[in-house]
Amino acid sequence: MQDGELANKEITLQIEGMECSCEASLIEKKLGSLPGVTNHDINPVSKRVRVGYDESKVAAEDIIRSIAETGMNASSAKEDKRRSTWWREKQQLALYACGAVIIVSFALKLAGVPEAVSDVLFVLAVLIGVFYPARKALIALMNLTPTIHLLMLIGATGAMILGMWYESAILIFVYSLGDVLESYAVDKARGAIRSLMDLAPKEAIVRKEGGETIMRTEDISVGDVVVVRPGERIPVDGKIVWGASFVNQAAVTGEPIPIRKQVGDEVFTGTINQDGSLEVRVDRLASETMLSKIICSVEEAQARKTSYQTFADSFGKYYTPIMLLLGILVAVVPPLFLGAEWREFIYRGLVVFVVSCSCGLALSVPVAVVAGMANAARNGTAFKGGAYLEALDKVKVIAFDKTGTLTIGRPEVTGTRVLDGTSERDLLHIAGSIESRSGHPLAAAIARKARESFGSSGLLPVEDFQETSGLGVTARSKGKLFVVGNDRFQEEMGVVLSGQAREEIAALENEGKTVVLVSTQGRLIGSLAIADEVRPGAREALQQLKKSGVKTVMLTGDNRRSAEAIALKTGVDELYAQLLPVDKVEVIKRLRDEYGEVAMVGDGINDAPAMAASGVGIAMGAAGSDIAIEAGDVVLMSDDLSRIGYLRALSRRAVRNIRQNIVVSLVNIAFMVTMALIGLLGLVTGLLLNEASAVLVIFNALRLLTWKWKKAAELEGQGLGAAAAMAVETE
Ligand code: ADP
Ligand code: MG
Repeated sequence: MQDGELANKEITLQIEGMECSCEASLIEKKLGSLPGVTNHDINPVSKRVRVGYDESKVAAEDIIRSIAETGMNASSAKEDKRRSTWWREKQQLALYACGAVIIVSFALKLAGVPEAVSDVLFVLAVLIGVFYPARKALIALMNLTPTIHLLMLIGATGAMILGMWYESAILIFVYSLGDVLESYAVDKARGAIRSLMDLAPKEAIVRKEGGETIMRTEDISVGDVVVVRPGERIPVDGKIVWGASFVNQAAVTGEPIPIRKQVGDEVFTGTINQDGSLEVRVDRLASETMLSKIICSVEEAQARKTSYQTFADSFGKYYTPIMLLLGILVAVVPPLFLGAEWREFIYRGLVVFVVSCSCGLALSVPVAVVAGMANAARNGTAFKGGAYLEALDKVKVIAFDKTGTLTIGRPEVTGTRVLDGTSERDLLHIAGSIESRSGHPLAAAIARKARESFGSSGLLPVEDFQETSGLGVTARSKGKLFVVGNDRFQEEMGVVLSGQAREEIAALENEGKTVVLVSTQGRLIGSLAIADEVRPGAREALQQLKKSGVKTVMLTGDNRRSAEAIALKTGVDELYAQLLPVDKVEVIKRLRDEYGEVAMVGDGINDAPAMAASGVGIAMGAAGSDIAIEAGDVVLMSDDLSRIGYLRALSRRAVRNIRQNIVVSLVNIAFMVTMALIGLLGLVTGLLLNEASAVLVIFNALRLLTWKWKKAAELEGQGLGAAAAMAVETE
């Protein structure tokens, strides 16, 4: 990686033939030496490499060619052919043949046939089995990059030189078998994400003028109308234009309870239309659906590695050459300087080589991360990086936005007050006309109410609309400037609030209502009281989080009194009110300084800066909201706050799993190397131990795929629920 160069292009390549992550270093070395390549990032699980390069210095073909020089194959990830398998089949065939010959020669040996015969057969087994690993080893040698294959080949060759044919054959067989098992496990983790992709139907019935035609979903354009029969998966993201049905959205939101959808409602690719016929107008191309966004975010998530993975990666970089050196020293130094026996110490050196051929450490971390993320994705949540999977467990404080997060975010106008001879109708008319321009939830409530009375076309024309985030809006109508917003905003605009007005506002705010004031020419003309309901389940979800040891905090731009009312209903520990979006960032920073890692939960609308300032930004209600999907580091497709508890439990699991893997791998390596040095470990036992630990560790990581979180609240009813859930979580 060179600094000062700017990548102006990026490609993602699918690598074939990369069986072990240790080979990644080979590719990294190649890419690093290629002028014009600015950055590269290899994902050993999905077997993809993302390369940023300067188009004027290097072409995509050159990159592909230089990868081919490593003996591996690179192809554009888009045309992923679900990997051609001829290469693997041949290697597997060689493996089986090698195994069969070993068994036969063993049998002959037991039957008392002369040693020479079985030795010849062992040599044959070596020759059959060694071809593919040797090819890779030679490429590694030519590139001066010590890989596991090279160590293995040295081990096998050395054993043969010492005349240990049987050891040599077993070595190659077990080694190749381990390789195949490891790639099986990695494919399994990868397959878990791929299976999400299979949720999206490949074809859809499109209604055209002449009737219905079946089209591939990638050929469907925005605006097409798709027919979905009962029982089918919905093949597109869009709005229902005809029909009504219960839809099971578990694939996208993780929510197992079907929701009734009717004309005008949004539906998502991969969800199941249960009982009615639907016609859906397509809103998004097949490549941009919510489902494909979840999958992309998981596939790309490896870019932000966990600290464990970074550790394993850098460990691997030094580890292999050090082992190579250690092996050589063991083989050479004692016989040369201490007069020890050559044969014995060459053997010990070989054992050191062989036991260090472990992919377990390097692979177990990424497999655990991908398996954890796949588990999350199946539950309607997505991590945008392994780092967040790790970070969530460390979070000490979770900050929640109020509107749209702790509350439903669909506020309603509950009352109006007029002053100065304005009529209620006029107040609503002008306020609604101005607020129809704003995207704020409060504005939407006022505009909705106005449309009910005046119709969509009955709103007044407005000019010079201007919104001040966290305060309110101003606009001109019939030549007069109107100010619509909170008390702070009115005062900033030069409006003086009377004592009586203040008292009235305070009374409404104490009920948890938000008061929007309307003024013109420096005089208040009225106010609208707006109430937003607390999200069902918010209190329980917060309770559960508090029990698991996090501090809950509410951040809001709303006034202190109505915020307090909501805080009381949800049970947050602390409350910060009257914050502008920049103030929220400040509060997050202060919380981070004081307590450590902070997560910020928001709906993404005006909380993006605070989410970015926190260690983990959690966006919720992302199904249907592109902003939320962009803004979050962790995305909840549904609005269900209890998912945060699930994600924390998952994070804890994953971190624990990764730690177990690292400890097992390191202890095993240390044990084996020590035993090899003092001459107590044979080649075959060493190799078996080594491969067994690698496979064990990888399969341990795969357990994260099937792990289930039991929300005890569901099982035991509300009151006891939280405590019981805690018990499950920390179990
Ligand atoms: P929250 O943090 O609860 O999401 P915001 O930061 O979006 O709240 O807004 C804070 C306050 O600013 C609101 O409670 C309201 O008083 C005022 N406000 C913001 N935008 C508008 C608007 N478009 N119309 C009226 N008032 C607004
Ligand atoms: Mg908000």
